[in-house]
Amino acid sequence: MRKFIVLLGPPGAGKGTQAKMLAEKLALAHISSGDIFRENLKTQTDLGKLAQIYIDRGDLVPDDVTIAMIEARLQKPDCSNGAVLDGFPRTPAQADALKEMLKKLEGEVVSVPFINVPAEVLVERLSGRWSCRAQGHVFHSVNNPPKTEGICDLDGSELYQRDDDKPETVKRRIHVYGEQTAPLLDYYTKAGLLVEIDGTREIDQVAFDLLKAIKRN
Ligand code: AMP
Repeated sequence: MRKFIVLLGPPGAGKGTQAKMLAEKLALAHISSGDIFRENLKTQTDLGKLAQIYIDRGDLVPDDVTIAMIEARLQKPDCSNGAVLDGFPRTPAQADALKEMLKKLEGEVVSVPFINVPAEVLVERLSGRWSCRAQGHVFHSVNNPPKTEGICDLDGSELYQRDDDKPETVKRRIHVYGEQTAPLLDYYTKAGLLVEIDGTREIDQVAFDLLKAIKRN
């Protein structure tokens, strides 16, 4: 059985940072739906052009488009052991679709850690966030600064601030999270898979708690 871990949490909870580390530790693929959209945006594919309209507004890309994109991604050979899913599913319809996809792939969701961070901390976190162009490594001007300003410690590429980290868009993203993604907490609690992690702690402590929670499941 391939193992899939779904990381939940509001925008700015640290899902991307944690998902990368976790995937490496567990030898699983790291699949970030946001990164795939941004990659398509950069190369101006049809998918990228369509997604941009929604991403710029802080809204979700429609379910059918997102589901088809993830389904294609899960066919790739690096998912042979499973994957850490970062940013997908984000709606109950996506969670249902994931269940169907995994049936075909002989995989299952084994754990759903929810990285909890209160709303008032999120805006401050996102406005100080810097992402690397090459691989999406994430830094924060105060909480996790790079050794050299503007340069990724891990691969030397340029750091940039995401357009959708602007304060108005951040507020919209947090609102959309509450309306459309928060119902997944209930969905995965009912499935017996949700484990809550305190996302306000240091990055390494959150990573430790995450690993512990997953091993328990
Ligand atoms: P993220 O990098 O996860 O914060 O995602 C950035 C943006 O990509 C989101 O604000 C959405 O517009 C879009 N996006 C990412 N994942 C999904 C998803 N699962 N469903 C719909 N839209 C998504």
